[in-house]
This record gives sequence, structure tokens and C-alpha cells, in this order.
Amino acid sequence: MRLVLATRNPHKARELAALLAPHEVTALPAEVILPPETGSTFAVNALDKARAAMRATALPAIADDSGIEAAALDGAPGVRSARFAGEDATDEENLAKLLAEAPAGSALAYVCALAYVDAGGGEAIVEGRCTGTLAADPRGDGGFGYDPAFLPDDIGDGRTMAELAPAEKDATSHRGRAARALLAHLGS
Ligand code: IMP
Repeated sequence: MRLVLATRNPHKARELAALLAPHEVTALPAEVILPPETGSTFAVNALDKARAAMRATALPAIADDSGIEAAALDGAPGVRSARFAGEDATDEENLAKLLAEAPAGSALAYVCALAYVDAGGGEAIVEGRCTGTLAADPRGDGGFGYDPAFLPDDIGDGRTMAELAPAEKDATSHRGRAARALLAHLGS
């Protein structure tokens, strides 16, 4: 199936194209405007984005809303992960703020909600979680966002998410888990 992906984030697009094969994940046309992420849950934000993409293209659409929850910060930054250090913050600024505010070794969870919406009124929301701990210092240049500081519990050999091969990240990540749940829902 051809799925339009409601994102402008090239990292998410790359990961989801691999995770959702054999479905074909295509980019959202440049002129489509995505709604602001004003929801208080990942699921609501993902569904808003997928509905907007389906309405604009009349094609089955998917959207990812994701982020990181730090136990030491009562679950922050959560849905505000992309804007943790300010509205136009870079990944590097957000990562530096997390390292400054949460202690090394404290518990983290990545969360990903994936929404699917089609023109026939079909809708689905699936979620994936990946637990880990905060590294003392950032390491690695794979992945994106908070990956250099995220030590996944399932790996447990001291490598951060940014030091894993793409297939290893996919096997353990929040996005990988959500994508496999969506594939099961789509029957493939
Ligand atoms: P949004 O879903 O566009 O609101 O942005 C999600 C934000 O969460 C990203 O900008 C990253 O900061 C963070 N994030 C989500 N998934 C990942 C991941 O797989 N690795 C690292 N950071 C992530």
C-alpha cells in the first residue's frame, strides 16, 4: 500500500520507510500545511497530523508523534520534546537541556504514537515504548534527537541509541515497536 507520511522530519521518514516495508512510504507534498501540535497526548497529535494529510491528498496517511519522558522531570519533556529548549530549539539544544536537568543514570522512556487514517473512514492508533537511562555524556552520531544520551535497557552493553546500527535501533526503538503494531493492524 502507498502511505503518505505526515512529517517534515527526515529522520522519522527514513526510519519509517524501512520499518513499514513492503508498504511504500511517500513524502507529504510540500504545499500541505500540518496542524500545530497542541494536543496533550502523542496519540491526539499523531491523529491530527494523519487526518490533515489524508484530507489534503485523499491517500491513506500515517503520522508519528513521539518524544522522551524523563522520570526525574515528572515525565517532561513528553509531547514538548521537539520544543524542550524553546520553540525553535535544535536537537543539540534540547539534548543539552536534558543532560543539564536530569541526573546521569535516571530513567527515561521514548514513546511513539503512530496514527493511520484512510479515505474510507478507517482510523487506527498504535503506540510503542522503549525504556532506558540517561548517559553521563552524549556519544555516537547515528539516529537523531536525544539518541546520543539514551542508553536502551534492551541493549545493555553501554552503547547509546546513537551508537547502534540502524537495524539495531529499529529492533528496540519506540518507533520500531509502533511500526510493527501498525503492520499487524494493516494485516501485513
Ligand atoms: P514531534 O513528534 O515532531 O513532536 O517531535 C519528536 C521529538 O522527540 C523529536 O524532535 C526528538 O527530539 C524526539 N524524538 C522522537 N523520536 C526520537 C528518536 O527516535 N530518537 C531521538 N529523539 C527522538
